[in-house]
Amino acid sequence: MFKQNIKKIKPDWLMKKISFTHKRDVETALKEIGINTVCQEAMCPNISECFSKKVATFMILGATCTRACSYCNVKTGTPIGVDQEEPEKITNAVMYLGLKHVVITSVTRDDLHDGGANQFIECTKAIKKIDSNITVELLIPDLKYSSEALNNIANCGAEIVGHNIETVPRLYHIRKGANYKKSLGVLKTLKNANPKLKIKSSYMLGLGESEDELKESLKDLFNMGCTLLTMGQYLAPSRVHEKVIEYITPKKFNEYKNMAKKIGFEFVKSSPYTRSSYMAHEYFENS
Ligand code: SF4
Repeated sequence: MFKQNIKKIKPDWLMKKISFTHKRDVETALKEIGINTVCQEAMCPNISECFSKKVATFMILGATCTRACSYCNVKTGTPIGVDQEEPEKITNAVMYLGLKHVVITSVTRDDLHDGGANQFIECTKAIKKIDSNITVELLIPDLKYSSEALNNIANCGAEIVGHNIETVPRLYHIRKGANYKKSLGVLKTLKNANPKLKIKSSYMLGLGESEDELKESLKDLFNMGCTLLTMGQYLAPSRVHEKVIEYITPKKFNEYKNMAKKIGFEFVKSSPYTRSSYMAHEYFENS
């Protein structure tokens, strides 16, 4: 019943099909290695496409988040400790998939004194140890805004560090425990700590933001030193999650891309199905 309703209101350009045969091999292998992916946990609509190309985004520090954002499908609760073998599991997965660019993210771990920064650093070091030419992109939570944790992350050897701004300031109430200005501060702290680092951020659009609000927010991001950007359509994982207010057309996504480029962003991906890690390796192929 619910699915029928969704189909009625979803526009044609959001009717991507998930092929289970294409993703089964990768899913089975990652399960055996013992690695979580945000692709699976967040029910990413690109999973068939990415897994069939052997691209995945690893999710470290467990699959239970200490926050409960109203748009997110990741389970909330009290996480278990930190898996000391995780860096090795990550390298096993990197080798299995043959990745040249690795994207790692995590749940928010407010229970850890460093927000989980050390585990990101250990995973990065382990990857660089097997092949220093593999590029690493870390998509981090706010790490409780700890300057020390952010400084350490900025200088751990990763080429790109991202922290998602997700939406415009007026809608920030949907991000439980987050603060727009402090999220901008995360990006600035990272850039100040390592001026050579590429800083990335991402928006989910269609939550009711206006074009002017988006433009102002893009300028805020750029002024913090962020030059890599992704923008995609927010899709509600279920009826209890934040509602979609608007389906942004592919044409509008393209206009937003041009708007961001005009502001000065170096690399922009903007389309209904773009996600923060979507084809992230392309930055290095095109730069
Ligand atoms: S877009 Fe990112 S999260 Fe989604 S399936 Fe691809 S790699 Fe995974």
